[in-house]
Amino acid sequence: MTGIGALSLALHQWRLAARHRLDAMTDPLTGLVNRRALFDRYGQGTMGPATAVLVFDLDHFKLINDTFGHAGGDRVLKVFAGELAANCRAGDIAARLGGEEFALVLKEMAPGRAEMVAERIRKAFAAREIYLEDETLKCTVSVGVAPGRSMPMDFDAMLSAADKALYVAKRAGRNRIELASRLHSVPAGAIRTGS
Ligand code: GH3
Ligand code: MG
Ligand code: MG
Repeated sequence: MTGIGALSLALHQWRLAARHRLDAMTDPLTGLVNRRALFDRYGQGTMGPATAVLVFDLDHFKLINDTFGHAGGDRVLKVFAGELAANCRAGDIAARLGGEEFALVLKEMAPGRAEMVAERIRKAFAAREIYLEDETLKCTVSVGVAPGRSMPMDFDAMLSAADKALYVAKRAGRNRIELASRLHSVPAGAIRTGS
């Protein structure tokens, strides 16, 4: 093989490997990063006071699938992913955690901003008409918001605080945002006892 041949083969293999790495980090339906990529990025890290974690879960999504079919449900997932992506600035990340659950990690949030972003997304999504082949539907989302705390927080502690708030939003009737309580937020390095 000529030198140029060897070089072009190496380049091809490098491109293939890069493609595989990207595929492994991407959710194929929505194009957002997947849960694994999100944890690769933040799993070990601590989050400063200006970083917020938001968790979203589409409301009554099973009913959407049952009424409009799986393809209709998939369309809703894509539309919602687009809504999240549209609300990201440089350095933010929108991820599909799995099923109809999503997360946003937002950087440089002034106090009070994370809940404003969550509310903007909730409202915009609820108002959105989603077009299928021969029908139109609407869907809503519930959101748990873990704003940055003055103390550094583990990423998984923030995610779990946002998750608990999401659960409260569901219990309170859905199509709403809920703020994580301080009780739900464990500072990084704190000794955790019990669950
Ligand atoms: P809640 O308001 O309490 O969140 O109710 P829900 O119906 O949204 O929640 P539930 O967990 O009962 O249903 C989630 C559904 O999401 C069930 C599952 O079939 C559907 N689902 C998960 N992944 C996908 C997907 O990739 N595409 C489609 N179309 N549906 C999916
Ligand atoms: Mg769910
Ligand atoms: Mg749901």
